[in-house]
Amino acid sequence: MSEPTDPPGAAALLADLAEVLPADVLTSDPDILASYAVDRAMFVEPGRAAALVRARNTAQVQQVMRIATRHRVPVVPQGARSGLSGAAIAIDGCILLNVERMNRILEIDPANRLVVTQPGIFNADLSRAVAEFGLYYPPDPASWEFCSIGGNLSTNSGGLCCVKYGVTTDYVLGLELVLADGRLLRTGRRTVKGVAGYDLTKLIVGSEGTLGVITEATLMLRPRAEQPLTLAGLYPSTEAAAAAVSAVVAAGMVPSLLEFMDRASIDAVNQTFKMGFEDHVQAVLLAQSDAGGERTRNDIAQLAQIFEAAGGEVVLAEDPAEGEALLVARRQVLTAFEQFGTTMIDDVCVPRDRLVDLVRGTQALAAKYSLKVGVVGHAGDGNFHPTVCFDPTDAEEALRAKELFDAIMELSLDLGGTITGEHGVGTMKIDLLEREIGDVALDLHRRIKQAFDPFGILNPGKVFRA
Ligand SMILES: Cc1cc2nc3c(=O)[nH]c(=O)nc-3n(C[C@H](O)[C@H](O)[C@H](O)COP(=O)(O)OP(=O)(O)OC[C@H]3O[C@@H](n4cnc5c(N)ncnc54)[C@H](O)[C@@H]3O)c2cc1C
Repeated sequence: MSEPTDPPGAAALLADLAEVLPADVLTSDPDILASYAVDRAMFVEPGRAAALVRARNTAQVQQVMRIATRHRVPVVPQGARSGLSGAAIAIDGCILLNVERMNRILEIDPANRLVVTQPGIFNADLSRAVAEFGLYYPPDPASWEFCSIGGNLSTNSGGLCCVKYGVTTDYVLGLELVLADGRLLRTGRRTVKGVAGYDLTKLIVGSEGTLGVITEATLMLRPRAEQPLTLAGLYPSTEAAAAAVSAVVAAGMVPSLLEFMDRASIDAVNQTFKMGFEDHVQAVLLAQSDAGGERTRNDIAQLAQIFEAAGGEVVLAEDPAEGEALLVARRQVLTAFEQFGTTMIDDVCVPRDRLVDLVRGTQALAAKYSLKVGVVGHAGDGNFHPTVCFDPTDAEEALRAKELFDAIMELSLDLGGTITGEHGVGTMKIDLLEREIGDVALDLHRRIKQAFDPFGILNPGKVFRA
């Protein structure tokens, strides 16, 4: 087989980039390009990039975009490449524009309760830095130790505490964005309120690198949260656990965490971590309250009552440390699934009263496709992560796993839900986007894209097809 050749024009592109960028920022080394060509998505085929730019500042991002526009080459913005939907993978002939090195916090402003940051900082590092000022940045993806704020903004990330505190978009006040032609756009504000013009900030959040490159973000913070207390409900059936979730919502309660695990997930943590859940436990709910002081204890008591009334056996943590121990099962479940093979994590969201239909439907699909699937998720906001376990070295099984993954998304749409609650569309879910949003919305997506990116060079082929 002959070696792949460089796409036409690659040499001229590299020469132009080399003229304006320092040597330690630009590379075309094939091994390095290959290692940066992927994110953490399964079943996606990365293209062959022409160059990798690891930008250190906004001016370098602007230079790259100007040159990309001149050459009409695609640019793939990248953060930490922890994405699960193939949104950050290379496209043939592209420039991979990685902003991980732009990781400085520019300002923490306790008086206005906000932080101004570069995009490359990891979520956990930003959260720890603002905590030193008694402040709290709530969006908490499970990947927080290894995902960037720019990536969180571009996929509108969520996490465990979103049931009470909302998702990334709820904390964005303003953005600095480098447009496809290299111009700098500033959106939003530093004020609490502001309705001047279209809300371009929210439009950019969740746009997966298709409208511009985020080079700075102004994020709203909250006062430090109180220490939470935790309880678990052990249920004889999914139906009973679902009834408890509905009762919590109906009672007007807003726990700071409300998580669900099905029996397959319980089996996984039992086997890997010797958790000791008994056989009759078919579903587990975990809940927290951080209301503060007496209110926390009152909340937990009310949650315990609701959990019991729905047929659950309640386990109460006496203090935060015990609470963390209760949460270990949920936090470690993905690792536990790895004993069954490679895992592919779906990310669907259904109306909260369709939990049973989603779990039962997924179990039926797992049986149909003869594969192991565990359902865990954020019961409080209807966002579930059915996790498909399979052997990637068995081509037939891998194909079945992908079909099952897609069937779970179809199920979610049938239940009035969405194909993605927090991981984004990327390349993995592109085929189902049209079914979810319809052709009028798709047409508008294309026109908006055209306004931001007339030559279609920003992450083309991600989210939707041109
Ligand atoms: C084990 C594991 C657990 C996870 N748990 C969660 C979870 O609980 N909640 C959740 O929401 N996600 C979760 N994720 C998914 C992933 O971590 C998030 O989608 C995260 O926001 C991606 O950030 P990143 O920096 O890695 O972005 P990347 O993967 O590098 O990029 C993601 C997208 O953002 C774009 N992008 C990145 N930076 C910029 C920028 N500066 N400007 C413009 N576009 C940009 C890319 O083009 C791409 O479209 C998990 C992933 C793993 C592997």
